[in-house]
Amino acid sequence: MKLKGRTALVTGGSRGIGRAIALALAEEGADVAVNYVASEPAAQDVAQNIGKMGRRAILARADVSDYPDTFRMAQDVLREFGHLDILVNNAGINSDKTFVKMDHASWRKVLSINLDGVFNCTKVFIDQMIAQGYGRVVNITSVIGQIGNFGQANYAASKAGVAAFTKSLAKELAGKGITVNAVAPGFVETEMLAAIPDKVRNKLLEQIPLKRFGTAEEVARAVVYMVSADGDYITGAEVSINGGLLM
Ligand code: NAP
Repeated sequence: MKLKGRTALVTGGSRGIGRAIALALAEEGADVAVNYVASEPAAQDVAQNIGKMGRRAILARADVSDYPDTFRMAQDVLREFGHLDILVNNAGINSDKTFVKMDHASWRKVLSINLDGVFNCTKVFIDQMIAQGYGRVVNITSVIGQIGNFGQANYAASKAGVAAFTKSLAKELAGKGITVNAVAPGFVETEMLAAIPDKVRNKLLEQIPLKRFGTAEEVARAVVYMVSADGDYITGAEVSINGGLLM
């Protein structure tokens, strides 16, 4: 087990990619705090599965876009676990519209969860990681932040912002035992992708050299690699998991 004795928090750990990451970290021996904002039964299910593996799981409800709520969550997690080693900033949403139709509220909502949320959750744990001289932060970005997309100006901007944040923090924290990396999935089979009409899905598949969408588990394995000792020499990276969509 590569993460025995480690503690982790996964934002948006109740569903999709975050759920797979939470379970994969626990499989490698980590105790995991499962963050969610609305899906309590789904988060409980993840926590139960982690419990069955013999690991500790705690539910950590907070809206990542709300700084005071996130601060309160961090205090609860630190009280329960004593310390935090691994932070995975995964929570994210999309709200797609062409720019002409995109209103300010939709822009702010996506930026506040996808970008401000990463600031908030990192901010509330970083002093403790610095004090312990160890930390692993992984931010989930997206191929859309790398190439842009029709109807996703808000989402693309948020993810490109997280990628730049990742590199800046990696430089600032490298001397303190903390690595900061990003994983940039392409199109992955989750509820987020299920919302896309079949016609568009088929067009997307044509553009993916591996001719299939990714799985949440494939993204989770990359996160485990980066936060375990295998990834100790990696910082400031944005690892693409996209079936060859961008090369
Ligand atoms: P998903 O299935 O829609 O799950 C989203 C997760 O984020 C849920 O756990 C949700 O919690 C949580 N969340 C949403 N708003 C939140 C908030 N304000 N505070 C705390 N948690 C919040 O999405 P997914 O496809 O797994 O995506 C996960 C991450 O991967 C996102 O950052 C997404 O942008 C990125 N990504 C996804 C794909 C893809 O194709 N699926 C591709 C590239 C990148 P509740 O369950 O409580 O609502």
